[in-house]
Amino acid sequence: MNSANVELEKNGIKVVCPVSAYNVSQIASYVANHLYARFPTLKISYNILYNEISHIPMYIAQMPVGMADACYFYKNSSIYFRAGLKFDTVERLAFHECIHHFQEVKDNKGVLRKLGLCTYAKGRAFGNSMNEAAVQFMTSYGTFEKRDVVKYYDVTFPTDSPSYYPMLVNLIKQISYLTGYATLFESTVYANDAFFNKFKDEFGVKQAYKIQEGFDTLLELEEKIIRINNKMQTKDLSAKKLKKYTDTVNSLKLELKKTFFNTQNLIITSYFDTRTHQIRTVEQINEYRKCLYNYSNLIGTSHNYSFFNDYYIAKMSQLDKIYEKLTNPSTALSIRSEDAVSKSKFRRFVNAIKKLFGLNRQSEYFTNEN
Ligand SMILES: [Zn+2]
Repeated sequence: MNSANVELEKNGIKVVCPVSAYNVSQIASYVANHLYARFPTLKISYNILYNEISHIPMYIAQMPVGMADACYFYKNSSIYFRAGLKFDTVERLAFHECIHHFQEVKDNKGVLRKLGLCTYAKGRAFGNSMNEAAVQFMTSYGTFEKRDVVKYYDVTFPTDSPSYYPMLVNLIKQISYLTGYATLFESTVYANDAFFNKFKDEFGVKQAYKIQEGFDTLLELEEKIIRINNKMQTKDLSAKKLKKYTDTVNSLKLELKKTFFNTQNLIITSYFDTRTHQIRTVEQINEYRKCLYNYSNLIGTSHNYSFFNDYYIAKMSQLDKIYEKLTNPSTALSIRSEDAVSKSKFRRFVNAIKKLFGLNRQSEYFTNEN
């Protein structure tokens, strides 16, 4: 048995048989077609895609409970699918795993250096969860997955990927709405730094790394919850042990919810605060306003979450002041004396926005629920 197979078995993956040549060619044509048609900015030809994918070794395997239904094993650049899946599920899972294949960068000794947005250095992976989120976001978009509003861990949020990494996909979409989708897709597939450089530029270096850490924490917490849930389902446990596990899962869920909102709030403040200081024209104010307004369609909420609403209202007031300074520079000097007047004007403005904002959220939920 070769070393790759030994390592696979250590992870509980047991090969049943190779995927037939006919099915591999069907998978290659499905993935190449969708990747080519849905991502024109990547500028890869259909033939190159088809050719590359049809040469990836693919296997059907027995996989442990709790593990994903497919995995890309970089040591032998092969894809493994769980035995017993329907073929259309296999095709969609293959889309995700084929992106892993394209984004893989190895050195001349065969050691993995990069996987899309993830960098390997000193035995550690940096950016792994963000990369998974980006790959799954591309997969959902590429395979026409239906967008939905879901509720996990007491957070209600829209996601392009309701079944796989729904929360991480929500967050990566929030970021790429601001940095531009094409840059994210390009860096995910070609493993270049364009996305992360833009991310650091527009959100601040410290904040970008902190947001990246937030992604990692979310994935770790979720994996812990899955592991404990599996233990609870598969083992005969005493009532005492069961209670202990249930309590642990509940506290992990709370931590997960907190991490999600901290990460989301940091994405919002680090981007929009930075951009406020860059406003020089009235046109930029209008763009900013539109961008922040539309952002409300992307965020996760819970019954006691008011951060975005409050932030939105505060920013509108700040924009109002910037507008006055830009359109009437003399008021900037006497802004104190006019404070009382502009406050009442501002209140009317805020009330109008509040109404608009409420309507928008409702119609968004209504559209998604149908
Ligand atoms: Zn993956």
